[in-house]
Amino acid sequence: MIADIASQYQYARTTPSTNLDGRPGRRLPGPGLRRYVQIRDRTCTAPGCRRPATQSEQDHIHDHQYGGATTSTNLGPGCKYDHRLKHEGGWTVTQPRPGRFIWTSPLGRRYHTRGERITDPPPF
Ligand SMILES: [Zn+2]
Repeated sequence: MIADIASQYQYARTTPSTNLDGRPGRRLPGPGLRRYVQIRDRTCTAPGCRRPATQSEQDHIHDHQYGGATTSTNLGPGCKYDHRLKHEGGWTVTQPRPGRFIWTSPLGRRYHTRGERITDPPPF
């Protein structure tokens, strides 16, 4: 396992990075961008929802049909229920910083959400 991590690290250091946000006009994110957003956000971004990002849809915060880009700063995982809630239920979502979301209910109440840490930071 250590050798595998070391080889991935070496690969990342020596291989020119691919630009995940390099094709903002396409409708769906490529596998690299999709995986990046899944790892960054971990779960559906709706308040209180624990649906894993891997089982959620990729939601364009600013809708693609209205010019929203397919980039990491405009995508977030949304489970089918919450994705629909946003489009048909009167909720709005913004992403003021990558991975930070503000859901606003139809009555104007705001909920700040973000992905959970994979682990707590070390104690030092
Ligand atoms: Zn959800």
